[in-house]
Amino acid sequence: MIRINENFTKLKASYLFSDIAKRVTAYTAAHPDKPLIRLGIGDVTEPLPPACVAALHAATDEMASRDTFKGYGPEQGYPFLREAIAAHDYAARGCPIEPNEIFVSDGAKCDSGNIQEIFGPDIRLAIPDPVYPVYVDTNVMAGRTGPNIDDRYQGITYLECTPANGYVPAIPSTPADLIYLCFPNNPTGAVATREQLAAWVTYAREHRAIILYDSAYEAFIRDPQIPRSIYEIPGAREVAIEFRSFSKIAGFTGTRCAYTVVPKSLQAYDSSGAPHSVHALWNRRHTTKFNGVAYPIQRAAAAIYSEEGQAQTRALTDFYLGNAKLIREAITALGLPCIGGDNAPYIWINTGTDSWAFFDKLLNEAQVVCTPGAGFGKCGEGHVRISAFNSRANVETALTRIAAALKNR
Ligand code: PLP
Repeated sequence: MIRINENFTKLKASYLFSDIAKRVTAYTAAHPDKPLIRLGIGDVTEPLPPACVAALHAATDEMASRDTFKGYGPEQGYPFLREAIAAHDYAARGCPIEPNEIFVSDGAKCDSGNIQEIFGPDIRLAIPDPVYPVYVDTNVMAGRTGPNIDDRYQGITYLECTPANGYVPAIPSTPADLIYLCFPNNPTGAVATREQLAAWVTYAREHRAIILYDSAYEAFIRDPQIPRSIYEIPGAREVAIEFRSFSKIAGFTGTRCAYTVVPKSLQAYDSSGAPHSVHALWNRRHTTKFNGVAYPIQRAAAAIYSEEGQAQTRALTDFYLGNAKLIREAITALGLPCIGGDNAPYIWINTGTDSWAFFDKLLNEAQVVCTPGAGFGKCGEGHVRISAFNSRANVETALTRIAAALKNR
């Protein structure tokens, strides 16, 4: 008799986006004359930068000719892309990362979900709350947790992100071997200072722990004091893996390209305490289970690092940040505390009320779709996330409607 992986039965069904869809469908059916504006999901709306499109076309033409056709490429990514990443995203910022420490992939979702495979089944986890759900669910699937009781998987140390700590979690009192951090944060939009990150790096070095640092939104950081990479912190090369994505910087959510940095100096230990290269383990895992990103897509990604590509992606992130600023100002003017939006494309509103009730109010009275914070974890209750990924016209209309709906709150 074939048996299932029973860890999957522990997964709390994720009703968030299906519940949103149900409520939106019901509203639209009842009010076909009232068009909705969606500021809920985190997908981008603007097209690929022209430099990426030109590179995509040129590389597609190469695939049409016997002389320039490419079959399987290196699983870790073509040197032209790995070298561009190392030069622009790391060397230029003083971070000592080599091209062969970069693994190109088809998404930070897959990488941040798959990475846990190379670590032991009984390691101790520290995961933020609220959180991008991939980190938790992939560890549940792998059997590293007990059942979910009262919105908490047994065995995980939850790093609570609340108004009291400015949504940047403190180092826990319970020990952790694998620590997930994400800055700029989804869903809160919070960023961590150099000192806050340095404290985590110190903790990881002292406890021989590893930090998984998701910086999928680093391109939105405008404050020069805020680190864009964990490797800007001295000593991080020995304790951190970093995930980056082209999804939000250049509209690659449908095109799919990302990368993960695993320094060669990173070690993890077997049961006898002997050290092993994490880079070698991830290389083995990656080359066994992944066959590389399509050549034209890697060319399109490399075009981000050209002079035009840099200007165009900057304009793109500036555009979304312009939306974010409008949203944050409008929400603040309504007297609601919020964070994010200045170095991130998300605004996290402390509604002080049930997050689904607030969602319903915006849906019914402003015809605006947001994301209830409760869907991101227990600490998300009392909050909603508004995304800046939309056209300027839609954002302006949505804010006018929200102001009208909330003014007599
Ligand atoms: N990490 C975070 C924090 C995200 O919010 C997202 C997407 O929303 C991802 C990773 C996924 O990125 P990708 O599109 O590269 O899979």
